[in-house]
Amino acid sequence: MQIQYKPRRSWLGTIFQTEILQGMGLTLRRLFSRPITRQYPDERPQIRPGFRGQHALVRDPATGDCKCIGCMRCAMVCPSRCIRIRSHKDKEPGSRRVIDCYRIEALRCVYCGYCEEVCPVNAIVLTEVYEYSRYERPSLYFTREQLLANWDRFVAQMDKPVKEYVNPFWRPRGQAERNLTGPKRLPVPPEWSGEQQVVGRKWRQHLPPEQS
Ligand code: SF4
Ligand code: SF4
Repeated sequence: MQIQYKPRRSWLGTIFQTEILQGMGLTLRRLFSRPITRQYPDERPQIRPGFRGQHALVRDPATGDCKCIGCMRCAMVCPSRCIRIRSHKDKEPGSRRVIDCYRIEALRCVYCGYCEEVCPVNAIVLTEVYEYSRYERPSLYFTREQLLANWDRFVAQMDKPVKEYVNPFWRPRGQAERNLTGPKRLPVPPEWSGEQQVVGRKWRQHLPPEQS
């Protein structure tokens, strides 16, 4: 079946070309309304809770290494199949799994955030860093060392102590406390917990007038 769209037009509209006048009227109205474009990079956007930027592996201050325990959940849940992990376990009983290789192919990532949501120890995070475009593809295949360096850079640019940084994905919305693993039971600002979580349009109310 063929569907044809034929806009209705009155004979007056045909004679006087009213669409042109409507278009000019719209242009005139926009001339006097507040611009919605941002003069980037002079004007920087305010990062909102739940922003999903550059990947990083959280550096454990106790060991100086990543917190990853090699459970493979992130690699299994990733819809883009862009996480590669290789690990081994020492033969001694009770020894932890050792991560040999952890890689993320950022170019294939769809920034769904499933990896950080599913991680039981808050090892992987999508940071608030959004400026990391490159000219070469290989530099966007993040190795473990690069992911740890990403975390270090992110921490250095944060205006608050690391302990106060809580990623909303570490505390998935609507999840009962009993369903969360220990590291995910971090204290969160009240507006990020449960029904009070401020996301999307509601967040605009919290912005200064010039950014809302
Ligand atoms: S954000 Fe989504 S697509 Fe990207 S690495 Fe994580 S799970 Fe995969
Ligand atoms: S889910 Fe977390 S702990 Fe498990 S392999 Fe991925 S980053 Fe490591």
